Amino acid sequence: MPRNILVTNALPYANGDIHLGHLVGYIQADIWVRYQRMQGHTVHYVCADDTHGTPVMLRAEKEGVTPEQLIARVHGEHLRDFTDFSVDFDHYHSTHSDENRWFAEDIYGKLKAAGLIETRAIEQFYDPLKAMFLPDRFIKGECPKCGALDQYGDNCEVCGAAYAPTDLKNPVSAVSGARPEMRSSEHYFFKLSDPRAVDFLREWTQGAGADGARRLQAEAANKMKEWLGEPGENKLSDWDISRDAPYFGFEIPGAPGKYFYVWLDAPIGYFASFKHLADQSGRIDVARFIDGTAAAGTELVHFIGKDILYFHALFWPAMLHFAGYRTPTQLAVNGFLTVDGAKMSKSRGTFITARSYTEQKLNPEWLRYYFAAKSNGTMEDVDLSLDDMIAKVNSDLVGKFINIASRCAGFITKRFEGKLAAPALDALATYRASLDAGEVARAYEARDYSRALREIMRLADHANQYVNDNKPWELAKQAGQEARMHTVCSTALNQFRVLAGLLKPILPSVAAQVEAFLNIAPLQWAQLTDTLPAGHAIDKYQHMLTRIERAQIDALIEANKSSLAPQPEQSSRQRHAEAQQKDAEAATTADAHIGIDDFTKVELRIAKIVSAEHVEGADKLLRLQLDIGEAKPRQVFAGIKSAYDPATLVGRLTVMVANLAPRKMKFGLSEGMVLAAADEGGKTPGLFILSPDAGATPGMRVK
Ligand SMILES: [Zn+2]
Repeated sequence: MPRNILVTNALPYANGDIHLGHLVGYIQADIWVRYQRMQGHTVHYVCADDTHGTPVMLRAEKEGVTPEQLIARVHGEHLRDFTDFSVDFDHYHSTHSDENRWFAEDIYGKLKAAGLIETRAIEQFYDPLKAMFLPDRFIKGECPKCGALDQYGDNCEVCGAAYAPTDLKNPVSAVSGARPEMRSSEHYFFKLSDPRAVDFLREWTQGAGADGARRLQAEAANKMKEWLGEPGENKLSDWDISRDAPYFGFEIPGAPGKYFYVWLDAPIGYFASFKHLADQSGRIDVARFIDGTAAAGTELVHFIGKDILYFHALFWPAMLHFAGYRTPTQLAVNGFLTVDGAKMSKSRGTFITARSYTEQKLNPEWLRYYFAAKSNGTMEDVDLSLDDMIAKVNSDLVGKFINIASRCAGFITKRFEGKLAAPALDALATYRASLDAGEVARAYEARDYSRALREIMRLADHANQYVNDNKPWELAKQAGQEARMHTVCSTALNQFRVLAGLLKPILPSVAAQVEAFLNIAPLQWAQLTDTLPAGHAIDKYQHMLTRIERAQIDALIEANKSSLAPQPEQSSRQRHAEAQQKDAEAATTADAHIGIDDFTKVELRIAKIVSAEHVEGADKLLRLQLDIGEAKPRQVFAGIKSAYDPATLVGRLTVMVANLAPRKMKFGLSEGMVLAAADEGGKTPGLFILSPDAGATPGMRVK
């Protein structure tokens, strides 16, 4: 049965470059779409820029352009990056579009009619100079926990504490520098905590789509159980869907000065993009894919990163359901990208932009292949290990795959005028019998591309074995072996053709080169094992893929070190999403206990303070060197200057968090955190670090 599938990718925010972390999800989706099309299914694949919000408005102002000019430029840049990596959307739209306004107003109006919208006054920071309410990320001040200066309104980059902007000490507006005032304003809320929504989501998040496949991956479904709580509990909070003018976005109908906030217009951009595509093509029935009553027999699949799971698994389906739209068939959620085992870092040069990758002339198919090899269909993080990428691409793609054609094609061109002989049928039959095409198909369907590639590379080994056993380069030198050499090379090219077909979803541009070289129609799944007949003429072989050299990767890292000045606002939308998700999680678990697993994630160790000293230019920090039994002491910056004379600390034992991600600070790298007690009520001033009883030694684990 041919399937009809609408596939979307998360909308990137129109205020920053596409980087390799983004590309994980886009490449995973694009592979899936190409695979489905090879199977003969109909897929509409759409995306758009998420354009609205304060960061875009302020950045445009800073650049002296209109928001419309800014988002038009970024739209061009994003689309070019996706195109370079063969992420081939049918349409790439913008949330600042007529279609999107129409859908946003329609959904909002229907939710309102269903009694799921209400207004509430909330207190928020207001910049009196700029005459605007300030998003959390546009307020700076001193961290209420550690006292670090110049921290954002949602969390501290020094001690990692999360808090509300109202907790900051000495807050200032990051826009104007003015001292913000608390002001009350009326906001609009979507009532996610309404019992109807909660009941619906309890069922929906654990259920299956029409095709019987789970809507959410197992880990995501479990997360939803946690967020929704036990039956009878109500752990969801209502969602603030409005912002006050001045704001770049859509004004809420009937509410002058109030604008739709991101979650009421960004995912809706999927439908807007699709509608635009349908209007252009004139052959797509939009209602069949998005209408709540007409969408049987079609599928809606969203590829997203795990940072926006909360919105796509709770907020979005509830909005759609109560507005009479169809809900997603499946969410395909991917994890974050790490590079060499660590978070992407601008200072280390591993915050790699898509643009720098292509400018350094690295082949996008290398990255597609490597990401595929590391993707297993779960929400686990994907690690880009640079040495492993070099090894895999060089040994698998060049050494095993391309090598088959490069060793055999020349003989066909030079000796046989480019015409193939009939292949050795027994050899071809053994080869085909060793391929479990169904297994590869199931792995592609489940987005477990690493499993698909293991099976494909096993087959590539088989093909190489055949070439090695029959050595056409030796036959070429022997008299009377002409016909045999012709057969061997023709057989090997038939085997190569099958591999190219299996790899086509992952390597579209190499596959297109193979199709041109073999002079065949576009490879389809059903014809994977067709035979190239005797007399079939191929084109001259041209090299399709080079090896990666380590020097190219080094140059890439270097380019990303030098070209990227810190741009804190660049990822503010994502930070915002993360912060909101954290709030949402915190709101749903505020009264819950943590499990022992949560606690044991924190690696506490006894540390000996080897040295302690003041830090030039820091009001609150001491630089400590801590021995925890490792080869080298750890450097930690601790906000305890007000309470301790450094001289009194040297030689003491205390307790540190040893597995906190290292944090680059103005003064150097901080590789952990020491614990200290403080009276949060403020009645007893001071800070008190901990000491173990006598007998504890540096490095002991504290449990
Ligand atoms: Zn702090």
